[in-house]
Amino acid sequence: MDATVTPALPRGADHIAPDCAGQNFYAIDRGLRDLLALYLSPDDFRRLEPHFDRLGALAGGRLDELARIADRHPPVLHPRDRFGRDEDWIDYHSSYREMEKIAFGDFGFHAMSHRAGTLGMDHPLPAVAKYALQYLFVQAEFGLMCPISVTDTSIHLIRKFGSCELKEYLLPKMLSADPATQWKGTQFMTERAGGSDVGTIETVARHEDGEWRLYGDKWFCSHADADVALLLARPDGAPAGTKGLALFALPRRLKDGSRNAYRIVRLKDKLGTRSMASGEILLEGATAFLVGAADQGLKEMMEQVNLSRLSHGVRAAAMMRRCVNEAMVCARTRSAFGKTIIDYPLLRRQLLKITLPTEQALSMFLFAADAMDRANAGARDAENCLRILTPLLKFRACRDNIPVATGAMEVRGGNGYIEEWVQARLVRDAHIGVLWEGTSNINALDIVTRAVGKSGAHKALEAALLKLLDEAAAIPAAFRDRLRQTLDRTMRFAERVAADPAREAHARRAASALYHIASAVLMTREAAGPGADARRALLARLVLEHRLGVQDPLAPEAGEWEREAVEILLSDRSVSVAEIGGLLEI
Ligand SMILES: Cc1cc2nc3c(=O)[nH]c(=O)nc-3n(C[C@H](O)[C@H](O)[C@H](O)COP(=O)(O)OP(=O)(O)OC[C@H]3O[C@@H](n4cnc5c(N)ncnc54)[C@H](O)[C@@H]3O)c2cc1C
Repeated sequence: MDATVTPALPRGADHIAPDCAGQNFYAIDRGLRDLLALYLSPDDFRRLEPHFDRLGALAGGRLDELARIADRHPPVLHPRDRFGRDEDWIDYHSSYREMEKIAFGDFGFHAMSHRAGTLGMDHPLPAVAKYALQYLFVQAEFGLMCPISVTDTSIHLIRKFGSCELKEYLLPKMLSADPATQWKGTQFMTERAGGSDVGTIETVARHEDGEWRLYGDKWFCSHADADVALLLARPDGAPAGTKGLALFALPRRLKDGSRNAYRIVRLKDKLGTRSMASGEILLEGATAFLVGAADQGLKEMMEQVNLSRLSHGVRAAAMMRRCVNEAMVCARTRSAFGKTIIDYPLLRRQLLKITLPTEQALSMFLFAADAMDRANAGARDAENCLRILTPLLKFRACRDNIPVATGAMEVRGGNGYIEEWVQARLVRDAHIGVLWEGTSNINALDIVTRAVGKSGAHKALEAALLKLLDEAAAIPAAFRDRLRQTLDRTMRFAERVAADPAREAHARRAASALYHIASAVLMTREAAGPGADARRALLARLVLEHRLGVQDPLAPEAGEWEREAVEILLSDRSVSVAEIGGLLEI
């Protein structure tokens, strides 16, 4: 489904499959290009496409080189200065600093959806464009996307809930395009007692000498040296549990320039995201500013969590795309037993297995981003869709990323396990997606218990998907009927699980099914437009058969149609519905 150019082997590197170095990750991504044209206004698409193209080239070029170096030179914490003062600071390798310049300075990721002026636009970028840019960036560098995204989401929270005074103090610094003066944001929630169970938070806020002071111990703090952190703490006398939590903004430096009273005690030695610093923070009476109402802390913080969850889904989609790109290059260049390995049926099936979840995630994140744009414009149904799409994407795309990364590593063979090649890093980085901003269980419970059970948000999603199926008139009616029936069964299954606490153990199954049917409908609709690449409908059928249907492992003939579908999907040629319609007739 992509058009990776087969690179020439470097001189003297016979037999070793090359990687994607030098490719433009925008130019080779047919699905992304088509879907951006579908979701963006023609004017935005025309003005933004040069930036997608530029970032696509950077991601396959300079950014990729920098990411490789930064991963090998993780940040180092210096807890004290030479005079013995607790003036802790973190040293980053110059490669990380150069990536920061590209992200914050050149592209203005942190500010692009908050103000006009980034990338020469006369209005803030739509969510579709912002997440598409994140998707391109992360194909090269994953670690830095945490500080980028959490700065963006911190700005959102301060704009929405901060007092006028706090906005005046923080926003000009946080929105600045000047790296020398810009303040970056982050979010510290997790403590030893609980990441999932945030009601156990022990950090206290005391009102002393007319200001709030924080005392506590934050156990997981990514982007540990950010200039301003949003965090949850319990004001003295507030009730136990989540109800007693308030949201605070914690600046690293006080107004007089001195260091605020908290210390980064240690950096975590992590499996992945090694370019970025995650630490432990001790709050020793640190000055902080209350954000919003003191009894609404968790509710407000959940806005940031949800924005991060969506970005995590995008990051998983991006890493999977990189896996597909790498695997395609290997498959087309590596020889074994006298043939290029892409010619082997088992290898082709393997490629399909990593391509399918990648394309699903692409469709899902752009649909979710579009729902965000429509919700921001006041559409209530889109807001409800986004409510359920966000944890769906976070839950399923992040889980899929793990087998996809392993699968792509295997396509490269032994070299894929060696840290000089990107696959090893992709395997390591993939795993964090199922942990931060809620584990798989926590996201699945959010989907089933709250989004379906309490909010009924699935109904808005169901209505939106049915509408898309009606619009996909070019696709054979029998196939669309099958999708409608599966959609109905999935929604009713999710409702049954939500209605009965005894069925809680099925929450992940229900969440997966919701994700799969939504992606199958989206891909069907995407295949139906004039001039569209109808291969996406074949992917929709594969989702139905493999991710929602029951397979008899002892009946190979049941999958005969797949051989033809695989040929079409792995070719560089897009097709019309007329050419593949027969493969959609069940
Ligand atoms: C590298 C890294 C960086 C991080 N950065 C940050 C950060 O910047 N800010 C921040 O606030 N946090 C951060 N985190 C913390 C992360 O969000 C938490 O680790 C995560 O939410 C899980 O919490 P926990 O570790 O306390 O595990 P627990 O909550 O103890 O979970 C343990 C297991 O129990 C399961 N479980 C818990 N409750 C239920 C339930 N009701 N039903 C079923 N299963 C359940 C979970 O799914 C999990 O499998 C980071 C973590 C890592 C690894």
